[in-house]
Amino acid sequence: MNQNLYQQFAVNFTQRADAPFMSTPGARSYTFDQARQAAGRMATVLRELGVSPGDRIAVQVDKSCEAVLLYLASLQVGAVYLPLNTAYTGEEIRYFLSDAQPHLYVCQPAVLDTARQLASECGVACVESLGDANDGSLMTKVATAEISAAVEPRSGDDLAAILYTSGTTGRSKGAMLSHDNLASNCLALAKTWRFTSDDHLIHALPLFHTHGLFVACNIVLTVGASMTFLPKFDADQILDLMPDATVLMGVPTFYTRLLGSERLNRETTANMRLFVSGSAPLLSETHSEFSARTGHAILERYGMTETNMNTSNPYDGERRPGTVGMALPGTEVRITDRESGATLPQGETGLLEVKGPNVFVGYWNMPEKTAEEFRKDGYFITGDLALIDADGYVNIVGRDKDLIISGGYNIYPKEVELLIDDLPGVNESAVFGIAHPDFGEAVCAVVVMQPGQQDKASEASILAALQDNLARYKQPKRLFFIDSLPRNVMGKVQKKQLRDDYAGLFS
Ligand code: ATP
Ligand code: MG
Repeated sequence: MNQNLYQQFAVNFTQRADAPFMSTPGARSYTFDQARQAAGRMATVLRELGVSPGDRIAVQVDKSCEAVLLYLASLQVGAVYLPLNTAYTGEEIRYFLSDAQPHLYVCQPAVLDTARQLASECGVACVESLGDANDGSLMTKVATAEISAAVEPRSGDDLAAILYTSGTTGRSKGAMLSHDNLASNCLALAKTWRFTSDDHLIHALPLFHTHGLFVACNIVLTVGASMTFLPKFDADQILDLMPDATVLMGVPTFYTRLLGSERLNRETTANMRLFVSGSAPLLSETHSEFSARTGHAILERYGMTETNMNTSNPYDGERRPGTVGMALPGTEVRITDRESGATLPQGETGLLEVKGPNVFVGYWNMPEKTAEEFRKDGYFITGDLALIDADGYVNIVGRDKDLIISGGYNIYPKEVELLIDDLPGVNESAVFGIAHPDFGEAVCAVVVMQPGQQDKASEASILAALQDNLARYKQPKRLFFIDSLPRNVMGKVQKKQLRDDYAGLFS
């Protein structure tokens, strides 16, 4: 049997041929059959360009329906789809092209000439462009190409994609994802979140990350639902779409920004059935404010580039704020001791490890790194610290790399952050370790106050407020006020940047 992920979508190309699949407001829309035809033309072009099964196709383009078609065409010809963050520039692109050695590099039309130059220096054979207005050299070729129906036979273990991690803790690593990794995770999510062909998704996430590409698009393609593409987050546009939509997938900042709009209420969200959050921790306050305003409990889930999604709060039953829920069907999670690797009893904090059909094949070109991150019994060490509560809900405590060790004691930044966040006038905070001559590392914090509350606190007042609630070694040695936390496009706080910014503080 052909285990190409494309086959999981194929039934909708016939059974839901005339049903809407994807659209961008005021621009283009595709039914399932139109998408099949357009992707089939693109598949012909890819084959003409010499793309063979197993070849990588690196793609750094703006978000568009046609970028999804390129993903479909890549699956169809058995290539390995490799999307890149549009924020990456010259030297970063050089790293990715040299590392991944794609056969084809698809870039934005405006940079075609420089992309050609760079690609030739990196030994990449073909370069085409794809714009967000149905334009670019690739679309010119597609216009006159035949529709290919052939779907390259793939085994479940063959690679469907290489997705680079977000680079939050160091240089991005290429996670090799098989057809089976993607197919199994998408089925588990569609079932857990009760997706049907009646669903309409508001898609405002980027297409180069697991959340927007695999979680969102693969589910829609698998169940035959539909989606509207927004180029980026815009609260008003999202609120305009809600009366005709059923699901929104977002990062936590989507929800804090939606809460900033007076239009968010029970009426505007009445047609929606599900709000999903992930990619970064959702504050409990955001969760409760959102339910107070709309009556909807945001469903938080947890995943990563390497594993797709691992856990989710339940669809029915309590969606517990501050937790990421339970393991998805087919996926197993456990907590182990950071040092010994032994499995820890329920309730204790340690490394979160996962196993299941969703877990990636390994890091591209990094066999040692891959070997380091897998246990002998097949569990992948996520690099996140967590505990599982008495009811089985997973609580992510932070990243192992962000753990602070001060005077020999472990400090989990989140514990300190939650206390600071609870203080009057505080909007949010980030706690991190800075090298210290006596303690090894010292706890430091940056705090963002709510608008208009800036004069409500000082370094001394916050430190004083923490004194009675926190062991001395966990209390920040220094605390600074900043206007906003440094975040990447997925809403992840860049603690590495904070550590760099304050590096010499105690030396
Ligand atoms: P890199 O691996 O390159 O340092 P990254 O880990 O940020 O970057 P991603 O794979 O995009 O790259 O992100 C996965 C990480 O995001 C998880 O390991 C976890 O730390 C965090 N994350 C995802 N969802 C949640 C969530 N619901 N709550 C808390 N953290 C989350
Ligand atoms: Mg990571």
